[in-house]
Amino acid sequence: MINTYFLFKFTESQFNRIFMFKSLVNLFFPKVCYACLNHLNDNEEMVCVSCRHDLPITNFHLNDDDTVLKVFYGRAKVENATALFRFEKKGLVQQLIHGLKYKGYENISPFLGDWLGGELKSLEDYQNIDAILPVPLHKNKLRSRGYNQVEGFGKQIASALNAEYLNNVLLKVTNTASQTDKKRFARWNHSEELFTLENAKSIENKHILLVDDIITTGATLEACISVLNQAKNVKISVACMAMA
Ligand SMILES: [Zn+2]
Repeated sequence: MINTYFLFKFTESQFNRIFMFKSLVNLFFPKVCYACLNHLNDNEEMVCVSCRHDLPITNFHLNDDDTVLKVFYGRAKVENATALFRFEKKGLVQQLIHGLKYKGYENISPFLGDWLGGELKSLEDYQNIDAILPVPLHKNKLRSRGYNQVEGFGKQIASALNAEYLNNVLLKVTNTASQTDKKRFARWNHSEELFTLENAKSIENKHILLVDDIITTGATLEACISVLNQAKNVKISVACMAMA
């Protein structure tokens, strides 16, 4: 650390200026844990050691637990399904996912993908995954948020499983109604979530892992699965960041 300026051929005064700049940045934008919002130590990244220990991991995939799979019973054919965390209101996971979706903390996504991908790559059930597909955002939502919050998650899982990441297959065609509209059109249920299939050939005869942030009723994933089944001979599994 002391010799950093020497390695990069900075002069000592340049180094001092960089050091001062970094100190200022740390002063005004201190690194905080994305889960508990406490300050991070220098050797911690993204999530503090204490939260890494306290986050409510499910271990569903490690224990052959079919809790997530059961969501789809009688609704859609799914090979395997899992979620990294249990989602609890006002808990650490809610804080993490809120940061990811609404505060622009995009790098939470690959962090969680590395975590889950690292676990799935040694499991037989996930060895034959050919492609990872994210649940898509409507293009207006993508524009306002700036990123699909499951993209980094999906890409890291794809790299852990040696699978391809395909975001040009499943497209969302209508915007989810606002809360007031939802109330007004309560009887529509989830029919406002419409997805279409593009480039169907690219998933023929493949085992797809569909990824999403939080699974609650499973309605969104079910809608995606029914569209994906329009392609020839596809098998579908599901992996989410958290299960509510
Ligand atoms: Zn923390």
